[in-house]
Parts: sequence; C-alpha cells; structure tokens
Amino acid sequence: MVIKKYIKGLVGLFFPDLCLACRKEHPIDGSLFCVRCEVEMPYCNFEDLRSNEAFMRIAGRLPIKHASSHVYFKTDNIVQQILHALKYEGKEEIGLSMGRFHAAQMKPMLMDYPDIIVPVPLHPKKKHLRGYNQSEIYARGLAMGLNIPVYPNILKRKKFTESQTKMNKTERLRNVSEGFELKNPGQINNKHILLVDDVLTSGATLEACGLPLLKIPGVSLSVATLALADNW
Ligand SMILES: [Zn+2]
Repeated sequence: MVIKKYIKGLVGLFFPDLCLACRKEHPIDGSLFCVRCEVEMPYCNFEDLRSNEAFMRIAGRLPIKHASSHVYFKTDNIVQQILHALKYEGKEEIGLSMGRFHAAQMKPMLMDYPDIIVPVPLHPKKKHLRGYNQSEIYARGLAMGLNIPVYPNILKRKKFTESQTKMNKTERLRNVSEGFELKNPGQINNKHILLVDDVLTSGATLEACGLPLLKIPGVSLSVATLALADNW
C-alpha cells in the first residue's frame, strides 16, 4: 500500500492527472499538457547549448559553458499563465515537472556536466510572504532530472529590490547589480554551477548572481531558465 502510494506519487509528479497549463483537460500520454496546450506551448527546443538565443543574451555579460531555456514567454501566451501559477498560486508541481522535462531534454547535449545547481534567490522577506522561491522549485525539478544537488543558500539577496517594472533599464540594472552576496563560498570551490532562474529577460539578474560566484577559485558557470522572455 505504501509502495503503491509512493509509486503513484512519483508518476503523478511526472505525468499529472490534469494538464498543468489549463488544469481542465487530461494530459496526452507522456506529456504534462493536454493536446490544445501542447500545440500552443512555445518550446525553445534549442539544439545546441553553446549557441542559442539564451546563450547569446548572457554570453556578453558572463563567461558561461552552456545556456538553456525551456519555453518562450510572451505577454498573454500560455507561458504567462504557467508562470503565474508557479509564482503566485503555489503550483509547485509545475516547476518540478517542467524542470524534470527540461533536464531530460538538456542532458544529452551537455558537453560539460554541472556539479551543482544554484537558484537565483528571492529576498527573504519576499520568500517569507510567498512561502517559497519559484526559481528554487524549478531548480529542484532540474536537479531530479540531472541527478545533482541544489545549493539554495549560496547566494543571498542583499536588499529588497523595488518592483522592477516601475524602473527604467538603467535603474533596473543598478538595482540588481547591487543585490547579491555569497554565503558559504568554501562549499563551491572548483564547481561547475548551473545557475537557475524562472525567466531570462535581459540577463542582468543572472549577471549579478554570476559575477560573485566566478570570483571563487575554479568556479565555472552554466545557466538554465524555465522561460525566455522575448520582450525586455
Ligand atoms: Zn491544457
């Protein structure tokens, strides 16, 4: 009985009862989404983790080995609903399941396998309000698929960043570039770190996280995000 429940739990995580996007229809076998949502889902399907849109957006800011995003985010597309559910409705299973799928897709293309995953942190106040960090949830999904550990306490956000939507680009850059500090840097010596965020926009947040990590001896970086925003 216990085993049966356990197996159902595992299968449920990978293949949910209801489509993770509309949460109305049953998903197609082997997918997280129903037929309609699967057709609409704008997968990035990058075939090379060293030259793609996500890689190009970050490479000018940070030296990275690989970059991968799972789906394209546009205003009003299906991904916006998914992100909303993951961020504000406590739908952690979306992040876990999509992270596992993304990992499975990425795995055969990794020329250099990461050792650990570090999620972009929320400010503790925000995490307390929301109850969880959606990027850490996605990181946990990726970690299950890649079979490597998540280190959620390496980066810490220094100050409460004002809602970025009200700022212009320069203010936004300054705001995040002052935002992160390292905790327990001794734990990441010589590690290849997969830095994970929910959405890749300009890459400024990932840069602000990556720069202090790269100061640690022997550290190298790759990046994975759930979504790649086309408008930033
Ligand atoms: Zn659906």
